Amino acid sequence: MNDCLFCKIVKGEIPSSKVYEDDKVLAFHDIDKKAPVHVLIIPKKHVDSIAALEATDFDTVAHIMRVAQKLAEELGLSDGFRLVANTGKDGGQTVNHLHFHLLGGRSLGWPPG
Ligand code: 5GP
Ligand code: ZN
Repeated sequence: MNDCLFCKIVKGEIPSSKVYEDDKVLAFHDIDKKAPVHVLIIPKKHVDSIAALEATDFDTVAHIMRVAQKLAEELGLSDGFRLVANTGKDGGQTVNHLHFHLLGGRSLGWPPG
């Protein structure tokens, strides 16, 4: 998807503040953070959302869970954190490239609005 914002970040066409990268996954700070720690973890391969995942994508999703666990530890979120993937219109998704928000560093409210 040529016009996808996060694909452009993956390709380095748009700068980002990276916190982790490997061959399958990229993690970078959200540009408009909603908590003291707010990192986005994305697959490098374009997938629209959780709703669009195909069977061959789930190994990468499992890998993202491992990256999230590692980053939560490295970023000092020992009191807890939230990992969330807004999906579709009702889910509040605004960038249509799958991403997991890793949020922490304060007590997070529940339920979401
Ligand atoms: P969504 O609303 O789709 O769940 O999350 C999209 C997130 O991407 C938002 O939290 C927004 O702040 C973040 N975002 C949008 N554009 C950029 C950008 O150019 N760079 C970075 N680092 N984050 C962005
Ligand atoms: Zn994309």
